[in-house]
Amino acid sequence: MNVLVINCGSSSLKYQLINSDSEAVLAKGLCERIGLDGRLVYQKIGMDKEITESAMPTHKEAIQMVLDALVNPKSGAIESLSEIDAVGHRVVHGAEKFAASFVLTEEVLAQVEECNDLAPLHNPANLIGIRACQELMPNVPMVGVFDTAFHQTMPRKAYLYGLPYEYYEKYQVRRYGFHGTSHSFVSKRCAEFLNMDLNNSKIIVAHLGNGASISAVLNGSCVDTSMGLTPLEGLVMGTRSGDIDPAIMEYIAKKENLDIEGIMNVLNKKSGVEGISGVSSDFRDLEAAYNEGNERAKDACEVFAYRVAKYIGAYAAAMNGVDAIAFTAGIGENTSFIRSMILAYLGYLGIAVDEEANQVRGEERVISTQDSGVKVCVIPTNEELAICRETVALVK
Ligand code: AMP
Repeated sequence: MNVLVINCGSSSLKYQLINSDSEAVLAKGLCERIGLDGRLVYQKIGMDKEITESAMPTHKEAIQMVLDALVNPKSGAIESLSEIDAVGHRVVHGAEKFAASFVLTEEVLAQVEECNDLAPLHNPANLIGIRACQELMPNVPMVGVFDTAFHQTMPRKAYLYGLPYEYYEKYQVRRYGFHGTSHSFVSKRCAEFLNMDLNNSKIIVAHLGNGASISAVLNGSCVDTSMGLTPLEGLVMGTRSGDIDPAIMEYIAKKENLDIEGIMNVLNKKSGVEGISGVSSDFRDLEAAYNEGNERAKDACEVFAYRVAKYIGAYAAAMNGVDAIAFTAGIGENTSFIRSMILAYLGYLGIAVDEEANQVRGEERVISTQDSGVKVCVIPTNEELAICRETVALVK
């Protein structure tokens, strides 16, 4: 089967065409600046990237351009659209309605729409992408794969906030968690890679990218994760604050004369390691600045690593132990000095790092020593492949 995987944002769209039998990517790319001037990046695997600048007033034109590129006689990955057997859509928020992936029927789409309030920037964009695909490929089955679904196994003690209970009842205010497709994929792969029985395992997954989250996976099910009602809670991220004292919001609002929107903008876009360092949200820049002796870049890296180490300690406590820790996503897969910094806090768990193995970038590798009390590894995430697998499982 060929599965088109779509990850739709408010003004961008990432796509991959995957053959589910070989799990090979046939073509991939993205549309940017949808609603503005429009830019399509398309790459048939094995060939050079093609860039086309063309107006994309809506997601429909963007998806039409992707489909045209996929069947282009010169560089297309397929000959006709009939070779696309299913479409898998990433959907950000499934609230408590979706603990698994679903075929996107009208009934299911109505329920997805009911989650819009909880993710007003993301879910409406996901829905626009789904509708556009349905219009252009009316007979192709579509599946929704939810970022929140994997975390739905969290117990009440992990997801309830210390807030008036009626906010949970009336407004669904609770912790949901995100990056679930990645946490699910990486925890399963980690057990497989380490020859562990997933059903009898305690795994901590550290998904450290521009957005970063960490999860505790007990016997294959998520029991806690660091993101909350929204992806703002938890770790210090590229530009997001993660956990803060909520009273800071009022204090800064008064000092800086900001309204709630202004404060949320600061917490989402001007905080995190970029806010601390004043250098960048990108750890490649931060590492360079750190090595040049930039004190604020050093602070940013140390705050980031310390927060991750504290969460690992908390999750080892939540599971009464830990068998394996898996690092994934841009920073987790590539930035060895940050992994070293985090792991340096964890000697009390019996962790010993193999510093040579820890130089690995972007490939599966055990980075702890043979006698380490906890196995530590790098497991590259692959959310598109996970979405493809979920899609095939539902439409086959
Ligand atoms: P993600 O959101 O998963 O794409 O991760 C993005 C972050 O990963 C960037 O901000 C970088 O700091 C980091 N990153 C990605 N690739 C590399 C690399 N080759 N070396 C070091 N850091 C990297």
